[in-house]
Amino acid sequence: MDISVVIPVFNEESNLPVLYERLVNSVTAISNDYELIFVNDGSKDNSLNIIKELSLKNAQVKYIDFSKNFGHQLAVFAGLENAKGDTIVIIDADLQDPPELIKELYNKMKEGYDVVYAQREQRVGESWHKLMTAKLFYRFINRLSEVSIPLDTGDFRIISKKINDIIVSMPERNKFLRGQIAWAGFNQTFVSYNREERYAGKTNYSYSKMFSFAFDGITAFSNLPLRLATYLGFAVSLISFFFILYTLYQKYFKHDVVQGWSSLMVSILFIGGVQLICLGIIGEYLGRIMDNVKQRPLYIVRESNLK
Ligand code: UDP
Ligand code: MG
Repeated sequence: MDISVVIPVFNEESNLPVLYERLVNSVTAISNDYELIFVNDGSKDNSLNIIKELSLKNAQVKYIDFSKNFGHQLAVFAGLENAKGDTIVIIDADLQDPPELIKELYNKMKEGYDVVYAQREQRVGESWHKLMTAKLFYRFINRLSEVSIPLDTGDFRIISKKINDIIVSMPERNKFLRGQIAWAGFNQTFVSYNREERYAGKTNYSYSKMFSFAFDGITAFSNLPLRLATYLGFAVSLISFFFILYTLYQKYFKHDVVQGWSSLMVSILFIGGVQLICLGIIGEYLGRIMDNVKQRPLYIVRESNLK
């Protein structure tokens, strides 16, 4: 099979018919050996029935119906696990990602890339706070983590089977696919496009979903927040040290302190620093446990002449 298209669907009934038409048009321009995998992520509207009808009409339409809403990333992951194509496209169901761009992504990939992601040049019809939080988030996470996640991209992209096999074999439970794909390496590039408005319906990413997504991204790719306790511990200890000196000076040289103040100050300052350092030590171990339970491959080989 040449191409699989993975589409996560959550309450998209009014987008699906148009999406289907545009997808088929754009994919058949590349190959007739394709599949469209719709993953219904617990939609409460008529999405599933529409998908089922499409699958009766066209045997190349596959679907996976989740028992409830498991979230966008897992919906995409389920599609990736079941994709049979040599190349796999991930696209949103709301037509914010134009299906017509698939051709361009595909052609770019044939120039010798393993991942071609679609980078948004412009986003219309999205609120300024969504744009701002997204912008801040990607810059923040790139600061924190060792993998650099391409700025201003969603999950709209094409990946090779090789990359897909790597992603599917990463058993970590908190998925942050765009980070994982960036982490996998090989030749990655982008094509830029203008992100359109949702064709119909409204966003299914509430602020709470966005926050938990952001936390998944940060915790999956950085142990820096844990290390913060260590840094803080040393900083507090250092400040405390000077303050303790000041306290002792007040007591023994100035003799103008209230009874009990010096001993209280000294012990509070000292214990504060010690506690934070201890938390930091626990954090260091926790970070290593995190690294181990993620069970990522330690490295991925591009090429070798070993038999
Ligand atoms: N989606 C999903 N499960 C969810 C939320 C969203 O499968 O819990 C799908 C949704 O149907 C769409 C894609 O993920 O195809 C992106 O969602 P949305 O357009 O709401 O996000 P936004 O573009 O606003 O970030
Ligand atoms: Mg959208």
